[in-house]
Amino acid sequence: MKWESVIGLETHVELSTRTKIFCGCTTDFGGEPNTHCCPVCTGQPGSLPVLNRTAVEYAALAGLALGCEIHTRSIMARKHYVYPDLPKAYQTSQFDRPLCTGGGVTLSNGRRIDLTRIHIEEDAGKLVHTNSELMIDYNRGGVPLIEIVTEPDFRSAAEAVEYMERLQTTLRAIGVSDCRMQEGSMRCDVNISLRRPGDTALGVRSEVKNLNSFTAVAAAIEYEYGRQAELLEAGELVMQDTRAYDANTGATVSMRDKENADDYRYFPEPDIVPAELTRGDIERLRESLPELPESKLRRYTEELGVAESDARLLTKYRLVSEYFECAARVSGSAGATASFIVTQMFAHISTESERERWSPKADAEALGELLGLVRTGKISRETAKRAYAQMAESGGRASDFISEADMEGISAEDLARLCGQAVEENPKPAADFRAGREKALQALVGAVMRQTRGRADAKAVEAQLRDILPGD
Ligand code: ADP
Ligand code: MG
Ligand code: ZN
Repeated sequence: MKWESVIGLETHVELSTRTKIFCGCTTDFGGEPNTHCCPVCTGQPGSLPVLNRTAVEYAALAGLALGCEIHTRSIMARKHYVYPDLPKAYQTSQFDRPLCTGGGVTLSNGRRIDLTRIHIEEDAGKLVHTNSELMIDYNRGGVPLIEIVTEPDFRSAAEAVEYMERLQTTLRAIGVSDCRMQEGSMRCDVNISLRRPGDTALGVRSEVKNLNSFTAVAAAIEYEYGRQAELLEAGELVMQDTRAYDANTGATVSMRDKENADDYRYFPEPDIVPAELTRGDIERLRESLPELPESKLRRYTEELGVAESDARLLTKYRLVSEYFECAARVSGSAGATASFIVTQMFAHISTESERERWSPKADAEALGELLGLVRTGKISRETAKRAYAQMAESGGRASDFISEADMEGISAEDLARLCGQAVEENPKPAADFRAGREKALQALVGAVMRQTRGRADAKAVEAQLRDILPGD
């Protein structure tokens, strides 16, 4: 590779507190424009903000989950800029005394991404362009945000996307944000520069603002790599600028020169007392964290014997992992339960938001009972799939859909008779098997399974066929 990409991400995440960061207005998404507002969150003169304690605690929880140091005292600061989405002409943020510093995430390729900091700030309003007018909806203004800043540690788009997915899974699991990129509750700025592999100095970067999907993050990185490489190869310089990504064209366009910290005229916010957390508060928050997805993944694969690909999918959604754990306890077989959820249930519950909200008709205990019957050999997997399809339609328990005949299985005499019959009716695979072709046996097993509509136990059928065939 001629050029190495060097990437740092700034991710904004809306916290799911009930009310805004400095007032009692609701944080609900949507609503009639400018109905979730008051003098405080629209910055009217004389109004006084009060810092939402839950927002500070949620931000600290995020920091704890990501291995950061949480500071007992952090200070809000005014960050000045003039733009209609921000009626005060400054955003209340944090500057030199952020709530969290350090921390990091280790990617599946073993590379560690260090976090620089996590700070608290307020969201701005939303600009709505119509044909002739620019309208502004301040409902989002004052929703609490955290900004998670990384060191320039990523080397590819894939690494950046994996990190974003990890943030999303982790922050959802601890319940501090729904991280819905399509609703803007998680969005990200990509900073990227190129350099020769082996160089240690950083190149000049561009910053692509406000990417609102994983696809956009990857596409913006790929586009910038191409654009900057072309400039550098032509002997030109990359100009440090702030860019926007256009999802329709897949290109980034320059919006303005990059501002730096001086341009913002930061100063400590005089109207808000510092955010204080005692060591005891921080320990209490740490203890309140649920088991994190990474640790669940390790437990599922190492202790419960779940296949890694299944475990990754289950731990991606908090409600699915809880459902799985309950069903696995009841069924007595974690591996089979995991694989049933991922293959059978995910086939029908297929969108991200359905999985996130996870509420199948068949509850976890019912699924566990059903799969317990498979584990103890009372019914076959085929029967379980059929019964599950009915449970998924109407709810109810396994026993509502499994007949005596299903449970009885097949008697030894019947099994011998059916296997004999399969050999007679399928002379070709039978001869092939006798001639030493192992694989041909499966055709005969399949024939018996079809004949019994899946009630027979495939292993017993196979054993019976092996008994019959050589002596034939
Ligand atoms: P800001 O963008 O607000 O001015 P910083 O200068 O601290 O803030 O950097 C923001 C992000 O840009 C961080 O994630 C950082 O790792 C990344 N970054 C800084 N310099 C470079 C560079 N030369 N190439 C790539 N990423 C960079
Ligand atoms: Mg930036
Ligand atoms: Zn308000």
